[in-house]
Amino acid sequence: NVKSINDLSGISQTVINKLIEAGYSSLEALAVASPQDLSIAAGIPLSTAQKIIKEARDALDIRFKTALEIKKERMNVRKITTGSQALDGLLGGGIETRTMTEFFGEFGSGKTQLCHQLSVNVQLPPEKGGLSGKAVYIDTEGTFRWERIENMAKALGLDIDNVMNNIYYIRAINTDHQIAIVDDLQELVSKDPSIKLIIVDSVTSHFRAEYPGRENLAVRQQKLNKHLHQLTRLAEVYDIAVIITNQVMARPDMFYGDPTVAVGGHTLYHVPGIRVQLKKSRGNRRIARVVDAPHLPEGEVVFALTEEGIRD
Ligand code: ADP
Ligand code: MG
Repeated sequence: NVKSINDLSGISQTVINKLIEAGYSSLEALAVASPQDLSIAAGIPLSTAQKIIKEARDALDIRFKTALEIKKERMNVRKITTGSQALDGLLGGGIETRTMTEFFGEFGSGKTQLCHQLSVNVQLPPEKGGLSGKAVYIDTEGTFRWERIENMAKALGLDIDNVMNNIYYIRAINTDHQIAIVDDLQELVSKDPSIKLIIVDSVTSHFRAEYPGRENLAVRQQKLNKHLHQLTRLAEVYDIAVIITNQVMARPDMFYGDPTVAVGGHTLYHVPGIRVQLKKSRGNRRIARVVDAPHLPEGEVVFALTEEGIRD
């Protein structure tokens, strides 16, 4: 089972090192390379380059598929309830495994509350909208509160200590640390198949702080894209739901306009997944809107942030 370039068969460590040095450090990069380019860049025979590219494509299952095959793959996707029927409805039933879902919105729009709620709800049995699974919570802003987990678990009648035991928490200190955590996750999730949810709250804050301004945009984007693709891969390979959050400035005037303008850049625009815009409404009400998901209808719903968690 090939999951990284180190698993490619019949290729020596020397060649693997050459590939990495030439910038081909992922299966994705290899899968889309041309044999000629790869051969020259890595200084390896053309036949070896062809073999490596074929293996990378097989590993990623890149080939023509019939619509029926696609349907069967999609039927395997499972869903986690958000706690709000309206929000679940908007998302086509809940948060999907094998998919990265981004919640973006202004401060206080409910991103972190949703992350807490989902790390509890993933533990529910399937008949109650969960996956009987565990969660990994990567916190970059220090806003995780165990008290919220307790409240939410209690409200669902779950064993509180049990719920807290099934959430693996880590605070990411900076971008390098955040990336290293995700690098290491591969090992954790392959050892513990009960992990069904990975949260990064927020995925962008360290990147914005460390690479401020226009002059750093290209580097920031490159590093962030790689990080996001790695998360996407974990979702796809291990049938996990990945949640990322992204704090953006309030632009009420833009809510009905082009959201990619509203988020102040194209940060996560090129990465596959579902993007959900959150906005404050009156009191504890919040508005959610799905942005450019090809299979979901347009529209928006209202949900509530309560002491017990996310509700209608
Ligand atoms: P952000 O989008 O910035 O991550 P949060 O998810 O942290 O926003 O949402 C903060 C909001 O969540 C608060 O303004 C409040 O409305 C709600 N909230 C937080 N804790 C509680 C609680 N214990 N009871 C009820 N509502 C809460
Ligand atoms: Mg937050």
